[in-house]
Amino acid sequence: MAIEITEAQIGKIVAQVLQSMDGGAAVADKPDWDSTHYGQRTFAGIFTDMNAAIEATQEGYKALRNMTVAQREKIITEIRRLTREEAPIMAKLGVAETGMGRVDHKTAKHILVADKTPGTEDIEPRARTGDDGLTLIEMAPFGLVGSITPSTNPSETVICNSIGMIAAGNGVVFNPHPNAIATSNYAVDLVNRASAAMGGPKVLVCSMAKPTLESASIMQSHPLIKLLVCTGGPGVVKAVLSSGKKAIGAGAGNPPVIVDDTADIPKAAKDIIDGCSFDNNLPCIAEKEVFAFNNIADDLIHYMRQNGAYQLSREQMEALEKIVLVEQTGKDGKTRKVINRKCVGRDAAVLMSKIGVTVDSSVRCLICETDFHHVFVQEELMMPILPIVRVRDIDEAIDLAVKAEHGNRHTAHMHSKNVDHLTRFARAVETTIFVKNAPSYAGIGFGGEGHTTFTIAGPTGEGITSARSFTRQRRCVMADSFHII
Ligand code: NAD
Repeated sequence: MAIEITEAQIGKIVAQVLQSMDGGAAVADKPDWDSTHYGQRTFAGIFTDMNAAIEATQEGYKALRNMTVAQREKIITEIRRLTREEAPIMAKLGVAETGMGRVDHKTAKHILVADKTPGTEDIEPRARTGDDGLTLIEMAPFGLVGSITPSTNPSETVICNSIGMIAAGNGVVFNPHPNAIATSNYAVDLVNRASAAMGGPKVLVCSMAKPTLESASIMQSHPLIKLLVCTGGPGVVKAVLSSGKKAIGAGAGNPPVIVDDTADIPKAAKDIIDGCSFDNNLPCIAEKEVFAFNNIADDLIHYMRQNGAYQLSREQMEALEKIVLVEQTGKDGKTRKVINRKCVGRDAAVLMSKIGVTVDSSVRCLICETDFHHVFVQEELMMPILPIVRVRDIDEAIDLAVKAEHGNRHTAHMHSKNVDHLTRFARAVETTIFVKNAPSYAGIGFGGEGHTTFTIAGPTGEGITSARSFTRQRRCVMADSFHII
């Protein structure tokens, strides 16, 4: 798909947003909103009962099956248009509802979804002819897809999944994250508005007014749900993979970055801070810990500080550790440290204010030197806090970075001009996404080649999902005919 976002367009979008931006609170000045309405508009496709939601989606799916692929594409074009137009509203809603992320970056993420999520062109059939005739392989819908979505990219994931799943001819039932339900349901309504405007069913995708684990469980076991697509942390991915149904699992990451002594250090520093601070580190692909060669680490830190990073003192680091991680007792009776949800996706200045330190709002990221075993390295914080571990050489860098990735096989990054180092790390870490010499978001098509997705399926292997991931292949054979040469 030849759609590109230029730097100028991104600048224009961000400028527009900044002009109209006054933080999450601005949404409250607008008409009231919750998981069922936004101002005067009642959301289409929102149910209080999961079984009713599934039945309604089945009707929408049947209507979609009677439409041509061209009609499907018209609905998708309208979803893209509405998403571009309403991106700032969804971005503000997301920040206001979850308290996480940044309005300007969330707006950019919606525009990315609108422009670079593949549509029906992704489900091209294949044909094979030979002495025995013609065989056709078509990409068919599954039917109803049950989709579980996260709080970190709520409306982005609903829209991205909807475009791909509808392009593939499916109906979709969402069980969104309860902490982001209004934002997710705004996006569900947007998809239904696009469908109705283009002559499609009024309810093509559905969601819950109050999603719960119970509604997720009903969805997982309902006979009409033929495919489960789960975007979230390890717990939920495990749950859908044990459902007995075909499932696509897009799970947690903890992306390491290696910087060796052949890298362009000023550029590496800027790229890492740009990626790490994007939407306050919420994206699962964002840089979470750095392994820097000892001989360039001071320079790297120097240039990071020139690019909006604040270097924590040891005391500040220890104080922050007590705030951003809390103790939780598991079912096994053991106490372990887990991330404090109230700190996830918060601005660097907000995190610092929690330890009584005022920093300028231009600070985008908090950096600190740690050893490999530090919780900041080991935990997927999803906050603009970036630990830096010094390493001797490439052997130590790869060894520690692979361990820090915890076998998620999700995303890793490297800044280097040494092709052997790059190749060795890419081979060792085996991640779905490997970004070289760029900010992390280049890996999902933002300033990098290729389509975008907000459902990166490492555990089940679909990778950077798109419409074709949500199809089943069907073969049609015509023997002895239609071989015309
Ligand atoms: P989360 O894991 O807390 O929740 C994700 C969804 O799963 C929510 O809708 C939640 O209600 C639901 N859920 C949780 N446990 C469940 C269970 N047992 N059964 C059914 N549903 C259940 O995720 P979050 O905090 O919103 O998102 C952050 C996590 O998701 C991070 O780990 C991040 O790396 C990951 N993530 C991955 C991708 C990807 O594409 N691989 C994209 C975004 C987020």
